Amino acid sequence: MTDKPSSPTPGRITLVGAGPGDPELLTLKAVRAIQRASVILVDDLVSDAILAHANPDARITYVGKRGGCKSTPQATIEQLMLEAVRAGEDVVRLKGGDPFIFGRGGEEVESLRAAGIEPIVVNGITAGLAALTSLGAPLTHREHAQGVVFVTGHPQKNGPGVDWARLAASASDLRLTLVIYMGISSAPRIQAGLLQGLPADTPVAVIERATLPAQRQCLTTLGELVHDLANSGLGSPAIVVVGNVVLGVKAALRELAAAA
Ligand code: SAH
Repeated sequence: MTDKPSSPTPGRITLVGAGPGDPELLTLKAVRAIQRASVILVDDLVSDAILAHANPDARITYVGKRGGCKSTPQATIEQLMLEAVRAGEDVVRLKGGDPFIFGRGGEEVESLRAAGIEPIVVNGITAGLAALTSLGAPLTHREHAQGVVFVTGHPQKNGPGVDWARLAASASDLRLTLVIYMGISSAPRIQAGLLQGLPADTPVAVIERATLPAQRQCLTTLGELVHDLANSGLGSPAIVVVGNVVLGVKAALRELAAAA
């Protein structure tokens, strides 16, 4: 009697949100997926404390801009994911925050589906949510904001980009909080556009490395944003929150900002 050749184990892939940085903000699903993975493809903005959950035998590949290296092209990342799944690996694609908020998670799902693979997706706490929470303030409030807009400040290569003046008019009319990702390098353009529809004294918070030990923040107004940002020396990765909800930041931080 001969042994039957074993059929290759089908691989699987899980897109996992690593949350904003604090490893305690991982979901249980995220931890379990990381623990059982045999291959992990890691983005920037995912801390080592999170990778400490990985199996010591797991193959971990960094595809972000760590150590000043150029980031891996998106097509290469998608190719790496496909090859690993096809080789029967239990693949985790670990992304900062939530995989479906500005993380190109949507593109990765599309490319996997085009190859006949349906990924599992595990949400993470997105930086835009964690940033203001870390200062003790909510993103919505019955008196200040009846909705939230998550928007990218990164100018699109071939697209028209965000119409900041129009967004400001809507935020003013509809009482919306604006949560801007990747907005630091475009802050002057964002400020100029938003000032066309929102008052100069609209409260603004900029939060760098939210939830990480190195977190820093700057509390300012729309009119002073670029000036105060330059003085504070804050840089990427940071979230800019615009709206009256920023008034809910804990008192100790407001006093510090006022004294600065
Ligand atoms: N998928 C991620 C966002 C990726 S885009 C998420 O859901 O959070 C990258 C941008 O996210 C950064 O430029 C910055 O604007 C923001 N970001 C990510 N982590 C952050 C953190 N810990 N603190 C502040 N901003 C952060």
